[in-house]
Amino acid sequence: MALFNQSNKSRRTLKGADFNVSFEFFPTSSDSAEASLWKSVRRLESLNPSFVSITYGAGGSTRERTHKTILKIIKETNLKVAAHLTCADANKEEVDSVIRDYWRAGVKHFVALRGDSQQDKLNGFKRGFQANPDGYQNGAELVAGLKAFGDFDITVSAYPEKHPMSPDFAVDIEMLKRKVDNGATRAITQFFFDNDVYEAYVERVRRAGIFIPIIPGILPFNNFSKLQNIARRCGADVPDWLSDRFEGLENDTTTSNLVGCAVASEQVMDLVSRGVSDFHFYTMNQADLVYAICRQLGMRAVEERAAKAA
Ligand SMILES: Cc1cc2nc3c(=O)[nH]c(=O)nc-3n(C[C@H](O)[C@H](O)[C@H](O)COP(=O)(O)OP(=O)(O)OC[C@H]3O[C@@H](n4cnc5c(N)ncnc54)[C@H](O)[C@@H]3O)c2cc1C
Repeated sequence: MALFNQSNKSRRTLKGADFNVSFEFFPTSSDSAEASLWKSVRRLESLNPSFVSITYGAGGSTRERTHKTILKIIKETNLKVAAHLTCADANKEEVDSVIRDYWRAGVKHFVALRGDSQQDKLNGFKRGFQANPDGYQNGAELVAGLKAFGDFDITVSAYPEKHPMSPDFAVDIEMLKRKVDNGATRAITQFFFDNDVYEAYVERVRRAGIFIPIIPGILPFNNFSKLQNIARRCGADVPDWLSDRFEGLENDTTTSNLVGCAVASEQVMDLVSRGVSDFHFYTMNQADLVYAICRQLGMRAVEERAAKAA
């Protein structure tokens, strides 16, 4: 069994289309943000992703907006779409009614997550997670609930640096195993910047008898202080070499963009050389940076490829 999704350790140059990408967007609340989201979806659609996914706010806070965005993607694009669904702060009937709505709308792919409770967020995650007593207790139970409902394609989360609330890797990987035993077919990781950490994590996962694809989550960024905030919340390490690259660029957007593009491209190229073939980009609804990274990696828009082939 290959350690990664595909084994091709010798591939060091990227000629385009020899790996797959997916893109994550979040639903928006204002008309101007909606226009920008839609522009981003359209721009990245041209790169022919395997799928796009739409996040779901903690406690169902974006339930309507996530649903609306997904319906629009189904109606107006050729993209395959995955709906994120969280179960914290909701009882089973509430979650099941969301699943029913999606089923009727033709959604067949979920990113199934426990999510964080509002109370935990307010407390700064100081106490352990308190599940709703009448709800799905974690990601694994939600996967089972989805599978009991229909034959969905189910993606789950994975944490190369372990989930911040997990006592250790063994507990974390045991949760991933339960999700797979209940029917998950792939995992997307929390973002990370040290590829050795990802590789060590995949080795642990394989040793635990888990053989689904563990797709690296890549977070492109061009604002280092924002990145630090996000990383703190997610428990992701920001290595010193990365701080060094952005040092002194606080007011230099142009250079920050270029460095951000280089950092993400280098990370993906190195992972490709280690045999990884699928990547999930956390786009933050910012298509320009992600588009530039994909071009830098050798990807071309569908129309460009067709014109070249003609
Ligand atoms: C790819 C990806 C997509 C995401 N999308 C969203 C999104 O759309 N919306 C959103 O709000 N958040 C999202 N998140 C963030 C996610 O909701 C949080 O990381 C959350 O804290 C854990 O959810 P999970 O499904 O990973 O939890 P789980 O996989 O259920 O659990 C994560 C870890 O927490 C521990 N744990 C689980 N249950 C308990 C418990 N009852 N007590 C103590 N420890 C426990 C386990 O060790 C487990 O390994 C996403 C994360 C990833 C990696």
